[in-house]
Amino acid sequence: MKEDTRIVNAGREPEENSGIVNPPIYRASTVTFPSVEILESFDKNPFDGVFYGRHGTPTTFALEEAIAELEGGDRGIAMASGLAAITVSLLAFLKSGDHALIADCVYGPTRHFCDQVLKRYGVETTYYDPLIGDGIEPLLKANTKVVFVESPGSLTFEVQDIPAIAKVAHAKGAVVILDNSWATPLYFKPFAHGVDVSIQAATKYIVGHADAMLGVITTQEQHYMTIRKTAANIGACSAPEECFLALRGLRTLSIRLERHCATAMKLCEWLKGQDEVEHILYPALTEDAGHAIWKRDFTGAPGLFSFVLKKTPKKAVVAMLDHMKLFAMGYSWGGYESLILPFYPKQLRTATDWSGGTSIRIHAGLEDADDLIQDLDEGFKRMNAAL
Ligand SMILES: *Cc1c(COP(=O)(O)O)cnc(C)c1O
Repeated sequence: MKEDTRIVNAGREPEENSGIVNPPIYRASTVTFPSVEILESFDKNPFDGVFYGRHGTPTTFALEEAIAELEGGDRGIAMASGLAAITVSLLAFLKSGDHALIADCVYGPTRHFCDQVLKRYGVETTYYDPLIGDGIEPLLKANTKVVFVESPGSLTFEVQDIPAIAKVAHAKGAVVILDNSWATPLYFKPFAHGVDVSIQAATKYIVGHADAMLGVITTQEQHYMTIRKTAANIGACSAPEECFLALRGLRTLSIRLERHCATAMKLCEWLKGQDEVEHILYPALTEDAGHAIWKRDFTGAPGLFSFVLKKTPKKAVVAMLDHMKLFAMGYSWGGYESLILPFYPKQLRTATDWSGGTSIRIHAGLEDADDLIQDLDEGFKRMNAAL
């Protein structure tokens, strides 16, 4: 089956649900059993079948199966948020005395979890240059259990050489955990590139409508129980409504991403001609520093990118952003609506120097590209008027 056919069919069994096209929302806490024998059979493996609401219902399982299939992994585990998927994955492989290598470009809350929680439990973290490739080898210590990659990086979009990093990590016995939210399961196939655990902030493109929080962990059979048991032990789970919304969003992911990307490309072409812009951070552009590896490993790009402004006083940036008509300011991304966000890369990293100044992240939504360009154009005019 080709990808667009799989995305329509993955995780769906209408014949098991009266012919209903979408997996229904099964809500549950209690699940009842007709005999002691069946009740006690779950003692051996409470994760195989419908046992208790916290471990998932058929709605959850449908989403887990669909994402695992699309990512090319064996098993999916749905979590209440993308961040929960990240923290449960890290906790599954780390214990007191261990060491983790984390890409310097990771999503901010991933960094906070390492610095504020893992540290408290005696796990040491080292941040590394995301562009390090197989040069990561000397950073791996005898107690390094996890190498965490995020490619391209949150906000700054460095493309990591994941196969090279994975090769070195595996030789030293560490697992590679990837935050694959940008590429989605469609544009980067983690398990074909040496990744052991892949995370989706399904909140973003998979849900696609800015109205649900959800994360999915995907892995191979070999690591499944380690992660599943960790999630169960700390009570991490996901809600069936959110899984339903993610399944619904998933069916249109492919066509939405095409449009997000086409619009992002148009915005980039226009931004390239603007004096205010120092440079653009978007691996799909041929001139981007990460383009070669992106082209080698990815099959597409969504509509999320950043650009670095030439030196501009904050009040001028504020004058631009405070009055945008179509680009709303807010966290998250991946919905149908365009978003804009200022950020300051220098403040977000500890292992790499970042010389560029104030930067702006754009999520190109599904609006008309010309309208979006006009909104940006008026924004730059306000910026210049405030100089
Ligand atoms: C938003 C985001 C997350 C976290 O997802 P939530 O569902 O908001 O918890 C993780 N990684 C990346 C790259 C993100 O952008």
